[in-house]
Amino acid sequence: MLVECPNCGPREVAELRCAGEVTRRPKETPTVRELNEYIYFRDNEAGIQREWWFCRVCEDWFLAERHTVTHEVLRTWLPVLPAPQEALAESGDA
Ligand SMILES: [Zn+2]
Repeated sequence: MLVECPNCGPREVAELRCAGEVTRRPKETPTVRELNEYIYFRDNEAGIQREWWFCRVCEDWFLAERHTVTHEVLRTWLPVLPAPQEALAESGDA
């Protein structure tokens, strides 16, 4: 099975590592329940899911949308960090 690394192009899946579905960090001071859910629970969708992948060739992380039933990887892309002002506004510190 080939998966497109955004840096290297198509690579054998053995050269990559799927690190699981994308999660969202809880707010700055989470409750014990929110923290517990963040650490231990996953949506485990039967369908299209966003995941973190690591390429062992270029040693970079990227995101992928993969269908968890058919294992088809629909698209891959490099993560984009938000601008500092956007990150502050998102965390509620602005
Ligand atoms: Zn790569």
